[in-house]
Amino acid sequence: MDLSNKVAIVTGGASGIGYHISLTLAKNGASVVINYNSSAEKANQLVKEINSFGGNALAIQADVSKFKDAQKLVDVTVETFGTLNILVNNAGITADNLILRMSEEQFDSVVNTNLKGVWNMIKASSKTILKSGYGRIINISSVSGVLGNAGQSNYSAAKAGVLGLTKSIAKEFASRGVTVNAVAPGFIESDMTDKLNDTQKETWLSKIPLGRFGTKQEIADVVCFLACPLGAYITGHTLSVDGGLVM
Ligand code: NAP
Repeated sequence: MDLSNKVAIVTGGASGIGYHISLTLAKNGASVVINYNSSAEKANQLVKEINSFGGNALAIQADVSKFKDAQKLVDVTVETFGTLNILVNNAGITADNLILRMSEEQFDSVVNTNLKGVWNMIKASSKTILKSGYGRIINISSVSGVLGNAGQSNYSAAKAGVLGLTKSIAKEFASRGVTVNAVAPGFIESDMTDKLNDTQKETWLSKIPLGRFGTKQEIADVVCFLACPLGAYITGHTLSVDGGLVM
């Protein structure tokens, strides 16, 4: 999975699944811009970790829900590394509630980060990626966007929106050889799954054919595959990485 001479941005790239994506792209040779919103310390720590094995990384603060921030993130990347090849839209938040109790603010904040944030980043980077000669866009959706989930009307709407956005941009960019795909993680061992009680865990595990939650690294490896030359003939696709939950 050779990514040498490629430049990547990973939004929300300092923690959680994003940390593993940033590290994996860097280990495979990409120069990685680690975007963060509030986790400056984690981002700087990851830059040091990547530099320690001879990799190239830079941490940039930007709130992807704001177009101006998205543009600044892309501009600083291009000023520093000369181009942009790989955009991984990973940043995401949740604000769960049944719709009877969900506030307008809870809906807007999740849609603005998880859907508009993806559009902002694609819009801000599209000219650069299209002329870069090697372009890959990978959007992190969710099983919730595919199946829906009670208590997540905001999140599942945004994540389903990401799938439509992915297919539209895949059609717009295909003639230039730029691929655009979505990855839909299922239940991944994370702060989110740690919060489930034993009964909830058992209920979900009984629905997952492989009988376990996934790891963050398993998501990062799939993202890296789509980003590298091996993924060249895949576009407009949603790759479920969920132990068989969606089939
Ligand atoms: P996480 O640990 O909560 O990390 C979320 C990341 O998003 C953080 O790095 C955060 O950065 C960043 N972020 C949030 N709002 C942002 C904004 N406005 N601008 C820039 N960055 C922002 O989440 P995760 O579990 O790793 O999830 C990563 C992605 O996978 C998300 O899109 C999530 O929806 C999706 N996903 C996760 C699971 C799961 O089981 N964990 C399942 C399906 C899909 P700061 O810390 O700097 O604020």
